[in-house]
Formats: sequence, structure tokens, C-alpha cells
Amino acid sequence: MATTPVRIKLYDTTLRDGAQAEGVSFSLNDKLSVAYRLDDFGIDFIEGGYPASNEKDEAFFERVAEKSPKSAIVCAFGMTRRKGVKPTDDAGLAKLVGCGAPIVTIVGKSSAFQATDVLCVSLEENLAMIDETIQYAVSLGKRVFYDAEHFFDGWKSDPEYALETLRVAVRAGAEVVVLCDTNGGSMPDEVSNGVTAALQAVRAASPDRTVEIGIHTHNDCGLAVANSLVAVDSGATLVQGTINGIGERCGNADLLVVAANLAFKKNGRYEVLSTGALERATALSRFMYELANVNPTPGQPYFGASAFAHKGGMHVSGINRNSNSYEHVPPESVGNERRVLVSELSGKANIVAFLKKYNLQDDKTLNQETIAKILDKVTCEESQGYQYEAADGSFKLLVSKVKGEFTPSFSRLNFQTSVVVTDVNETLTTKATVATVKLRVGSQGEILHEVAEGDGPVDALNNALRKALETIYPELRDVKLVDYKVRVLNSDAGTAATTRVIIESKDGEERWSTVGVSENVVEASWIALCDSIEYKLAKSYNAKEKNAH
Ligand SMILES: [Zn+2]
Repeated sequence: MATTPVRIKLYDTTLRDGAQAEGVSFSLNDKLSVAYRLDDFGIDFIEGGYPASNEKDEAFFERVAEKSPKSAIVCAFGMTRRKGVKPTDDAGLAKLVGCGAPIVTIVGKSSAFQATDVLCVSLEENLAMIDETIQYAVSLGKRVFYDAEHFFDGWKSDPEYALETLRVAVRAGAEVVVLCDTNGGSMPDEVSNGVTAALQAVRAASPDRTVEIGIHTHNDCGLAVANSLVAVDSGATLVQGTINGIGERCGNADLLVVAANLAFKKNGRYEVLSTGALERATALSRFMYELANVNPTPGQPYFGASAFAHKGGMHVSGINRNSNSYEHVPPESVGNERRVLVSELSGKANIVAFLKKYNLQDDKTLNQETIAKILDKVTCEESQGYQYEAADGSFKLLVSKVKGEFTPSFSRLNFQTSVVVTDVNETLTTKATVATVKLRVGSQGEILHEVAEGDGPVDALNNALRKALETIYPELRDVKLVDYKVRVLNSDAGTAATTRVIIESKDGEERWSTVGVSENVVEASWIALCDSIEYKLAKSYNAKEKNAH
């Protein structure tokens, strides 16, 4: 008999604990856009910040109250009352309960040592602080989650006191008790035993209602995700974490990785998010990297750019036959994609995979000898910094060059760009970028010379190139540039660094990407632009040929 899956709720603390990460800072608008994005994605609870600690967090709760999330519930973070002060006289607590969030997450010390030696209060006063603060918030109509700070360390050194803090929180009205591995030092077996003990204590203290156990882990031992999973297996039903695991020191549990493991690796025992939500998880992960201005980790489980990248030749021939052989889940299940990397390490199988990816597999002229030549060419270009996995247009051109089918439509004689900065008066400066191109075009070898302006050198160059070529090749008018990406390859070489430019273009029917590499960013852009134009011209030439037959 199949058992009903247990619903596991996700509690995101990117905006509070995640914001503690080195180098991460969210503006008020950033915080709002993260909150609405998490809501769209389907996160159950969003911790928006710590209203007593700064004005930005206070303003966040005001703004988010004006436009409530669709389904997520907003939580505010705060501390128990200060020692020796009544809850009604505590200014920080007043801000917490006054901020408008329906749930308040109150952190208290669940370790005897932390209470006496860090907070410097008696064990009794610490319990009273937990009790009175929660009762006060509940009396004002707030739902309360209790964050049991240092629970696992406290439970290891003085289990009875650690469990007593939980019982007090529950009797005072907390609906969730979140067990925190605050310094990230616990092992999975300790977390499992701690959750089991906490669950028993909490159930005994609340015979008439269900109090849930939550888990909050840090990654100092590389175990944040593993510890979250064992906590769930031991009975926790709420997981706190951050998107991409950002957080202070080594970070928090990566909430999306936890969610993917719960969804795909636990034989249907748990239900997490809504159906299909994880297919949007890679996009959410990348959105957060962008917004937090953090470099993505290519090897991030499930969502990293390398999570489904295959390089070795043997390996790739396995993937071509059956993707299960080297992938534990389909990349689409988390919205990621498979990438086949061509490299000197790999063999013809990678080229075959590329030909398949770019729909060239039915080309009968691609015999083993031609494939070997393509591999040689690709290997040589890659050593200079080229990459073809995101440059279908350039790859197809490379194939037709190797096959001897490519005739260039134009060739460069020279180009030049210049930026003219003019101070009109003391307050007004104008900037103009001008590009000049000189080309040899078509079978007659006609020489064309054009000048154009643009927003920056690449745009000006593109305009000049188009101006020159569109008179002869009017189909180029349909081509639009949709994306432009620049990547500095060996940045430690300083000024001599190599730059790779990827340009994405489209016409009415198709999109294609082209790549250029040079020590000079303008020249790298020129190469990618020329490939884009040649690709379009080859395409329309082939179409005309077809119609002529
Ligand atoms: Zn934390």
C-alpha cells in the first residue's frame, strides 16, 4: 500500500541569513524582487529580514505589506526580549511585532553554555526570555516560529536543558521549533539523534496540537544539505536554507538542492513545492547569482553550468547511447541542460554529439574522415579560447569550411573605431562612437568603404558593416542582434588577457550564436559579427539553391 507523501515546507532565509555572506548586499528593491520571485517559484515561507536591526529591513516589511505575495508567507526575524526587560518595554521586540509580517521567527538560546557564558544570563532567565517573548507575540495575534539557536551543540553538552528550551517555546505557543546547527559543526548522526529527541520532547509538551520541527543548517563541514536531509528523515517537516547556499562563512543549506533531493531521491516519500516547480529551479538559481553579484559555482549540484557537462570521449559516447549512463536525473527535470564539451581529451564521439545537437546528423557527406578533420580543427580552435557548445552558427560554418563548401561573401581590408568625447560646456559632455570599415565584397571584388555611428564600438562596427553589405545583400536587413556576451579568459595575464565574445542573432525564423576570440575585445566582436553575417548569407544562399533545383 502506498503511503501518502509527507509535505515538506521550504523556508527561505536568503534575505536574512544569506545577506550575511561576505560581499553580498541587497538593496531594498533587490529584496523586494527576490521576495516576489521566490513567491512565484512556490517557496512556502520567506524570511524578509530583521526589522529591529536596520531601516532597510523595516522598509521591506512596509513595502511587502502593500503588495502581498500570492502564496508565500512573509516572516520577520527577531530575538527574545533583552534580559531583565519586560517584553512590552523592549524596543527591538516592538519593531518585530509591529512590522506587519504574519509570522515572527524568534531566535533564542537553546544551549546552556551559550546562555550563561555568551549571553551572560542565568539558565532560568533564559527560559523566561523565551517564554515571555513568545507569549507576548502570540497574544498580539502573531504566528511564532522558534529558532533554537545552537540547539545541537547544546543538546550534546546538556541535553536536558536544550530540550527544556523547546518545551518552553512550545508551551508558550510556538507552532514550529527550528533546530539550528548554528556553527555548522554537527555530523549527520548527531543531527538525526537530536531531531528524534526534540520531536519526542515537543510532542510530549503539546499533546493537543501538532508542533512541527524545522531544521536550519550551515555548511562548515560540507554537510548542510546532508544534515537537512537526515533531519527530514528523522521527522523534521520544514527546511530553512538559502538559494545557492549563500550565507556567512561556508554558507547555509542550499535550499534548491535540498528540494531536488527530497523530490527525486526519496522514492516519493516527500512532497515538496508544486508539480513542475523544480523545472524552473536553475533559472531561479541563476537569477540569484546575478542579483547577489556572486560568481556562479559551475559544479553546483543540479544547477551548475557543469552539472550535466560531459567531456571525456568514452563518456560522451555513453551519453549518446543512453543519457542514464552518466546522469543521475534528466537535466530538464531541474531546468538545466546537457552540455557536450569538445576538447583535446575527447574524441569523435563529441563531434558526433555536436552534429546531432545542431541537426547535422543526416548529412551523408560527413564520413569518418571528415569528422576527424572537424575534430582536429575544433581542438586547434579550442586551444586558442574558442568554444562551440553555445555557438551553433560558428560551428556550422566551421563544418562547411572543413568540407570545402564555404565561400566567403566578403573580406576585411581594415576597420577602425574611435570614441569622440566632447565637452559642450561645464556640465554637458557628449560621446560619439564612430566606426569605419573597408571591405572587399562579392565575386567582382568590389571595394566598399562605410562609416557609421553607434552606442559603443561594437554597435558602431555592426552598423558600418551592415551599411556596407545591405546594399548587396538586402536579406541582412532581417538580422537583429539579440545578445552579446563577453568573457575574459585568462584574467591573471592582465592586459594581455584573451577575450571571448558570443553574439546571438535572429531573423524571422531562427536564432543562432557565433563566437570570436582575440586579445582585443573589439576584434573578438568583429569576428563573431562576421560569422553571424556569413551564417545568414550561407543560409539564404542554400535556400535559393534549393528553390532553383
Ligand atoms: Zn544561520
